[in-house]
Amino acid sequence: MSSTCCPNDAEEAKRQVAEYAMSLGFSAVGFARVDDVDADSADNFDRWIAERRNGTMEYLERYADIRRNPSLLLDGARTVIVAALNYYPARRRSPDLPQFAFYAYGRDYHEVMRERLASLGDYVREHFGGSTRACVDTAPIRERYWAVKAGVGFVGKNSTLIIPGKGSFFFIGELLTTVEFPPDEPCTLHCGACSRCVDACPGRAIVDGCRIDARRCLSYLTIEHRGPLPDDVMLGNHVYGCDECQLVCPHNLKAEPTAIPEFVPTEAFLALDREAILAMTPVEFSEIFRHSAVKRAKLDGLQRNAKRIN
Ligand code: SF4
Ligand code: SF4
Repeated sequence: MSSTCCPNDAEEAKRQVAEYAMSLGFSAVGFARVDDVDADSADNFDRWIAERRNGTMEYLERYADIRRNPSLLLDGARTVIVAALNYYPARRRSPDLPQFAFYAYGRDYHEVMRERLASLGDYVREHFGGSTRACVDTAPIRERYWAVKAGVGFVGKNSTLIIPGKGSFFFIGELLTTVEFPPDEPCTLHCGACSRCVDACPGRAIVDGCRIDARRCLSYLTIEHRGPLPDDVMLGNHVYGCDECQLVCPHNLKAEPTAIPEFVPTEAFLALDREAILAMTPVEFSEIFRHSAVKRAKLDGLQRNAKRIN
């Protein structure tokens, strides 16, 4: 599809891509025009880094130029297609057991998202030409920024993307394409006076009313942080990640369980208790978490956390 198509053709092409995305299992999809990231947003991100609120996640300090304009990821990119996958579980681990963040319940979302974005890319190239590039978390692209631009949702005070009517238990991925699709209207909603997540955060990690200080966040500390945990960190029952700031969010009251089969947890995972984690061998860890995001913490990290929970 060329940029000289009549508007009706372009809107119909966009509708077809969105429809195909939904047929792949995505719950929401939006389109944004590739451009420089707004100066305010870029400056906020740079300030967050300058204040060292990214902890030891130094990879967030690299590729600043690409984070400011994703066309550096794909020559000639015109459109960012943002798509969201629901991971809210139908069955949860017992509250008596160590708690894992919901996103880690099923198969590693990088694999699941990459496969679906690849199919979406195939569809776009086959029907509308051009080239595409799928971005899944690891690419230096400002995912939530583009999700807002594409009208998919807004960023809450807990820094998650909130999809109106659906909540925040979603993975987001992006497909860059050289095809120019009509952009959606950016989402202009916001949290308003609510501050439930700020009050509920066990690490007091939501600072300045709306920014995460990773160094205090249990999600960062239990997954990304290497080495011993600081003595003053209280994990509660969080052995891997933390969902507290999402669980209290009113936008998640009507969260629907995922229909993505890869995200359904195994019985072995649902039953895993603290003693089993502490006694786990590398072979057992590999068996249960080979295709799980939990492998990021490694067995050492998981057992370090398990020793500190109560
Ligand atoms: S994930 Fe947990 S610790 Fe981190 S900001 Fe949310 S509630 Fe706070
Ligand atoms: S709990 Fe309230 S303040 Fe926090 S993200 Fe949800 S709506 Fe926004």
